Amino acid sequence: MPAERDTIFALSSGRPPAAIAVVRISGPRAGDALKRLSGKIPEPRKAALARIRGADNEIIDEALALWFPAPHSETGEDTAELQLHGGRAVIAATLAALGKIEGLRPAEAGEFTRRAFENGKLDLTAVEGLADLVMAETDGQRRQALRQMQGLLGNRAETWRDRLIRALALIEARIDFSDEADVAADLVTPALHAARELVSEIEAALADGHRGERLREGLVVAIAGPPNAGKSTLLNRIARREAAIVSPYAGTTRDVIEVHLDLGGLPVTLLDTAGIRDTDDPVEMEGVRRARERAEAADLVLWVVDASAPESTRPAASGRPVWVIRNKIDLVRQPDKRNESTLQSDRRSEATFMANERLTGMVNQRLTGSPQRNEPKSDMSEQIFIISAVTGEGFDALLAQLTRHADSFLAGAEPALVTRARHRRALEDALAALRRALKPELAGREDLLAEELRLAARALGRLTGRVDVEDILDVIFRDFCIGK
Ligand code: GDP
Repeated sequence: MPAERDTIFALSSGRPPAAIAVVRISGPRAGDALKRLSGKIPEPRKAALARIRGADNEIIDEALALWFPAPHSETGEDTAELQLHGGRAVIAATLAALGKIEGLRPAEAGEFTRRAFENGKLDLTAVEGLADLVMAETDGQRRQALRQMQGLLGNRAETWRDRLIRALALIEARIDFSDEADVAADLVTPALHAARELVSEIEAALADGHRGERLREGLVVAIAGPPNAGKSTLLNRIARREAAIVSPYAGTTRDVIEVHLDLGGLPVTLLDTAGIRDTDDPVEMEGVRRARERAEAADLVLWVVDASAPESTRPAASGRPVWVIRNKIDLVRQPDKRNESTLQSDRRSEATFMANERLTGMVNQRLTGSPQRNEPKSDMSEQIFIISAVTGEGFDALLAQLTRHADSFLAGAEPALVTRARHRRALEDALAALRRALKPELAGREDLLAEELRLAARALGRLTGRVDVEDILDVIFRDFCIGK
């Protein structure tokens, strides 16, 4: 007989203290544990009042207990749930009491969900949907995650895989009966027909402009530009909180600071890149390298320049929309109000305007010359804004445009099937195998044809976690918290 599985337990609710804390227990001894702690097992799926007692029989708390016998539970195993008062000592005493019961141990991160997956309660795409649902920060992300969890992609992939396996069976029958011409009359044609249909359906799913991945990740906006241009000040104004260090000294923002925003229900990530400039300091060089990398991967670059300084630098990002933000316009308008960091002679502001004019020209030239890769059609790639991050002048217009841009970048009428690079890779692998199967050279080579169909089915199986799961499981469950 195989060894009995550990029964696991964990605090599944958030950080105490809170009104309520949820402790879950899953595994073959969940019922025993519940009985030990509360003296009874309630009716399945009905909340019951329970006095929770520790090993010394002292009452720890008055709680609600729920009992979900296998297989009708979230994990597919016997599961018990305690809704305790959410105090630290209550939770600690309850977890300690559970830890003393033989066969029970604390759960690892994601272990409840992992068991649900292993017991066939969720496929991998649903597990990912669940992870996304927990992490969702905006309504759009929540909706997409929920659909994913409910099987939008998983069910489709399973249907495709079924059809493939049926086509494969036809080819295999043809191979087996190749001597008996009348039996095998034409098994290949319907198989090829099925393969062709699958190609066009998978192609359609992939031709989504990456909107699912985009919504999941959000619009990534890099705030870049020379040191002291006011990037951190702008970021703070946008984020309306003190997330970046605002300092009058050049080069203090060494690393990339990330701020997650909800702009009109859409997820936007702002990156404040280190003052991008050449330096010999190795620590700063690293910051500069990372800043360039992030800015280059961003979907949009806000290139901030000091409108009151003569400096002129080129944006570090390539192939992405770059909006030029001419900041500190208050200083240009009122030269007397200049602060230390931007102290210039009056003559300089004229030079500044000219330098900025040149910079703007350079940016525009570069933009018009370079095609946008994979971007949705948008006439917003060549914007110039004149603002003051300190007084807020011009800021509303920038924010409104940013919201509109996020909307056109992320919105899609149809829900996307593909929300992760992993999904895309698996579907692309399946598609490549199907395309090879349909090549004219394979006519008459049923053995090769069968092999390609098998590869395609395997790629789809990987998507839902039916095959080759071990290597990806750890990656997926790593993102889960304990108690999930
Ligand atoms: P960063 O290096 O580009 O991140 O620049 P910071 O945001 O740290 O700003 C550098 C300095 O410029 C700070 O002293 C800011 O207070 C100042 N600053 C930023 N934006 C403005 C602005 O619009 N007007 C004025 N007068 N000062 C600004």
